[in-house]
Amino acid sequence: MAVLPIRVVPDPTLRQRARRVKSIDGSTQKLIDSMVETMHAANGVGLAAPQVGIPLRVIVIGIPEEEEIVIVNPQIIRRTGGRRVNEGCLSVPGYVGEITRSESVRVKGRDRHGREIRLRGDDLLAQALEHEIDHLNGVLYTDHLESADELRPAERSEEADL
Ligand SMILES: [Zn+2]
Repeated sequence: MAVLPIRVVPDPTLRQRARRVKSIDGSTQKLIDSMVETMHAANGVGLAAPQVGIPLRVIVIGIPEEEEIVIVNPQIIRRTGGRRVNEGCLSVPGYVGEITRSESVRVKGRDRHGREIRLRGDDLLAQALEHEIDHLNGVLYTDHLESADELRPAERSEEADL
């Protein structure tokens, strides 16, 4: 386990489409552990593997006071509702933007042991799932801004970084 350096824009890994994980093995476990540690060290609520320079479809989410969620090869199977949210990203430091995210999403994928999982996320968890899965497709939240005025400098400890 190690705290890994977080890639920031304009690092090209952030714009690549990440590859599916074919077999969940020891190196995947090591990556997951390091991602969880890196997310906590950065006070983030979520992290996707491309943010640490690894173009694989792995995400971790750590909503405060809740157990971490690890999903390998996650896929959104349903989105419902929409709400305006303030969002930040560890890979876009110093900014926060207002965008629209779903109220609720259903996601399927594999857990860290390779078992199939399905979960439903509402509110912050839905936002985090959409944000991290976007990272796997080379998409940043800033791509969802309707105008440049929706991006502003972040004030200290304001919004969750994903
Ligand atoms: Zn992010």
